[in-house]
Amino acid sequence: MQASLIVLDRKTTGVINSALLGLGLFGFCLLGIFTRPGADLASFWPANAFMLGMLVRFPSLANPLSWICCAVGFAAADLITGSTILNTVVLNLGNLTAISAGYIVFQRLEPADRRLARPASVLFMLVAIGVAALTAGVIGTVADPFLFGGAPLDALLYWSATEMVNYVAFLPMILTLPDDPLNRLQRIIDTPLDIMKLLPLLALAGTAVAGAVVGGPGAIAFPVLALLWCAVTYSLFATACLAFAFVAWTLLAIATGYLPVADNTADRATLLSIRFAVSLTGVAPLVVASVMAAREELLQRLMFLSNHDQMTGLFNRSAFLENAARRLRGGRSHDFATFVLMLDIDHFKAINDQYGHAAGDRVIIAFAELLKRNVRKNDIVGRMGGEEFAAILSECTAREAQVIATRINTVFAATPVCLEDGSAISATVSIGMVAAASPSIGIEPLLAMADEALYAAKRQGRNRVITPHQA
Ligand code: GH3
Ligand code: MG
Ligand code: MG
Repeated sequence: MQASLIVLDRKTTGVINSALLGLGLFGFCLLGIFTRPGADLASFWPANAFMLGMLVRFPSLANPLSWICCAVGFAAADLITGSTILNTVVLNLGNLTAISAGYIVFQRLEPADRRLARPASVLFMLVAIGVAALTAGVIGTVADPFLFGGAPLDALLYWSATEMVNYVAFLPMILTLPDDPLNRLQRIIDTPLDIMKLLPLLALAGTAVAGAVVGGPGAIAFPVLALLWCAVTYSLFATACLAFAFVAWTLLAIATGYLPVADNTADRATLLSIRFAVSLTGVAPLVVASVMAAREELLQRLMFLSNHDQMTGLFNRSAFLENAARRLRGGRSHDFATFVLMLDIDHFKAINDQYGHAAGDRVIIAFAELLKRNVRKNDIVGRMGGEEFAAILSECTAREAQVIATRINTVFAATPVCLEDGSAISATVSIGMVAAASPSIGIEPLLAMADEALYAAKRQGRNRVITPHQA
């Protein structure tokens, strides 16, 4: 049976994504509405943060159609749950205006900051959130007295504070969403369970429960240390999720009386103060996780620089030796062997002399690219110095290794290297190749044997592949 594949063009995909965004927003609005106390403003309102976060995190979504779909999502959720048309229009114009204000600030930030990837990113996010929340507050100053009969100043405080708390809780999770969430999940599932890695999570759960048992205003801070431990252990996204879980759990526990931090008759100001304290406590681990993420990225960059040859991007000598030794220890199959190749460009000094050092560099780069393209995905290649390269072909039959080495040799000879002035240099390479007879032979003796074969290739006239029995 032939499988039929539906390939969507970019325009159709864009329309579907905008519609899905509107649908998701509709779902989050319903969630907010169903948890709303009576006719008052919802205290749990993830919809605005969801919309703002998605537009910032996925710039391709930020188009007029998405705004229209979201406006429809907002309105539909209100109307089907019995809101008046006036309430629907006023509240949702308010939502969209506040989201626009936050969006404009985010657009002024660097892409790395929009993903909270730098130490100061969380502060910038708080500024954007502050602008969005204040806009909501100003709208509330007019709308609240009109819709709910509240006092203007109260409305300013209540609308902006509620908006702020919601953004602070939800937005980081969306901004730090990984590009490939399914692959990440698969990797986590495939990784064997490490109890040490679970300890910060257990500590977080334990301190949250302990807070509910002990109670009192200080209980909010019980999980702080565990949150920071999570921040130095887990990824930025995981930390954002755990911070959200902490905020949601704490606010829920306070609302339902499980976490008695203030008496039940507490006024709006006390409740707002508590909500603020909880959500800002949730921000602290994000700052730490951003610092950790920036440090991790820097380490990765340094690691790359210390392991790779700058000119060709291949492994340098020491990284090649390290990886090759590991690969040799791993090869145990009887049907396959590991092959070690030494490769040296022929008469390279003459190329330098005739065309100049820069042209020589281009030949080295071209050969490195050709080498990478002509080995298999899991083979290891490195630049050992000058115009000398090495390769490890693992899980390979003698025939396959011969085919690969010959291919490198013939393709390089047949592919002149183009220079900037339009001229071209033809060069050749000599290759010495040996099989690792047993995994116990170290990489250094194998390279020495491959080097001997390489020099035999040079002696026999260059531009050829030689194995020890041909030497
Ligand atoms: P053979 O066929 O025997 O290998 O001859 P050859 O000329 O290639 O001999 P040799 O290996 O002695 O020459 C290597 C030359 O490569 C010497 C050195 O000046 C030059 N070289 C080393 N590193 C670089 C580099 O990064 N760029 C350029 N352009 N030349 C380099
Ligand atoms: Mg040479
Ligand atoms: Mg050489």
